Amino acid sequence: MSHEKTEGIVLKSLPFQDSKKIITLFSLDFGIITLITKKISSKNVSLIQLLTPLSIGEYAFRKGKSDLYSLLDGSLIDTHSKYRDSYDKIVVGANLIRSVSKTQMHGNSAPKLFILLKRYLQKLPEVKKPQNLLCSFYLKLLLHDGIVIPLQNCSKCKQAASCLFYGESLCITCAPEHSLRFTTEEWQTLYALTYTTKFSLLDGLDIAETLRKKIEILFSNI
Ligand SMILES: [Zn+2]
Repeated sequence: MSHEKTEGIVLKSLPFQDSKKIITLFSLDFGIITLITKKISSKNVSLIQLLTPLSIGEYAFRKGKSDLYSLLDGSLIDTHSKYRDSYDKIVVGANLIRSVSKTQMHGNSAPKLFILLKRYLQKLPEVKKPQNLLCSFYLKLLLHDGIVIPLQNCSKCKQAASCLFYGESLCITCAPEHSLRFTTEEWQTLYALTYTTKFSLLDGLDIAETLRKKIEILFSNI
């Protein structure tokens, strides 16, 4: 048995037996892991906060023979308390963590994605357009996993790209009929959402409803 400590973001929290909980944690060092707690008193507010979905904290745990590790201790870094009064932001937060649960394998470390998710969750209280954050995260996640790679030029002939076919960027001439097609403006927005690291730029983008739907199609097709 070994003792470990890692930063993590709570993806899921389920009650278990007498006042225990089973937590699914996206951790910086170990990817998605599952932790079981000891009995939790309802008076232990700080521990309950630490174990609530969307919370970010440091978690100390003991590895055993099974994949279910025992939580020993932890300290809170951030919670959703700063945006819990905004329904839109809570929904975006829930979709951000759901997208990680959906795409990442248990026990596969993905530190770059962890840092990205942490940044996006911590920026959520400040942004004016939370949907932009979600669209951008979906695209960055697809890029991280090598599923969709938007490029300025067609990967076959180097003309301007405006279509996606199984994640490959193609121009209108090279793209098969049933590829996902974008207007020039949509393509530039898609590109910015995928690659920008500036939240001010991200929050200022106007994302057409048609583009938002296409991004959702890309993400739901995984
Ligand atoms: Zn082409």
